[in-house]
Amino acid sequence: MPSVDLHCHSLYSDGSQSPQQLVEQAAAAGVTMLALTDHDSTNGLSEARRAAELAGIRLINGVEISAMWQKQLIHLVALNIDPETPILKAGLHEQQQARAKRGRLIAEKLENLGIENCWQNVLALVDNDENRVGRAHFAQYLVSIGRVKQLQQAFDKYLGNGKPAAVPMPWTDMQTAISWVKAAGGVTVLAHPARYGLSQTKLRLLLADFQQAGGQAMEVSTANEKPNVILNLAALANRFGLYASQGSDYHGINMPWLKLGKFAELPAGCQPVWEMF
Ligand code: AMP
Ligand code: MN
Ligand code: MN
Ligand code: MN
Repeated sequence: MPSVDLHCHSLYSDGSQSPQQLVEQAAAAGVTMLALTDHDSTNGLSEARRAAELAGIRLINGVEISAMWQKQLIHLVALNIDPETPILKAGLHEQQQARAKRGRLIAEKLENLGIENCWQNVLALVDNDENRVGRAHFAQYLVSIGRVKQLQQAFDKYLGNGKPAAVPMPWTDMQTAISWVKAAGGVTVLAHPARYGLSQTKLRLLLADFQQAGGQAMEVSTANEKPNVILNLAALANRFGLYASQGSDYHGINMPWLKLGKFAELPAGCQPVWEMF
């Protein structure tokens, strides 16, 4: 199993584990270098750092930034950042406030669909910190009350684009997000490029723009990806002069099919992004 895992979530976003639990679990699974990459938040990093020192593994400061490329929502994994950088902190703070505002609007829509006390119950899932609220928490709540059977169904029926409880988000644009990461001394990685449902032509356009804007790496190996898809991503990384990254996108018990360190090795010929750290 790969010992470098550069994508995972704690309860500072939509994962189920504390940063300390996550780091201890990673060490037990044989991971030697771990990046904590919560959605739009670096709040778990200090706890993770203390735990990593005790567990004897290398922690990379990370964050997964929600951003827009044209009309497409994308995720950018920032690695090796200084989380105290004012411009990054300010940008993430705005995204968190947008999350809180969206959370209230989603809850209102779901309450109108007959789901009582939705906001209060979802807040309980995030330790009453409204800035952490994500769609996965709503999905989790809908599963817990039996409205839907699985997380995926909550997105298909309620939370996905164009569904009754969808709320459009003013996420920052790709270029701005990359500039925050640059200011913070980090590397921007395009997360799970095969998960946006783009044609190969559109994906190439995205990668060209991403590289032009200062993006330096892309995820090539992610969990549950088909071998031919991984090979295609490896070829694209080389074609656009991008470093290759890898990660589990672990979310704890919220997504039990994902495990720390569990995904394919990078294909030969890739430039591993962690050589930069
Ligand atoms: P948010 O950033 O709050 O809009 O939530 C995005 C997160 O929701 C992703 O990182 C996933 O964890 C989860 N998610 C998005 N789409 C789906 C889906 N179709 N099925 C399950 N989880 C999803
Ligand atoms: Mn997530
Ligand atoms: Mn993502
Ligand atoms: Mn993620």
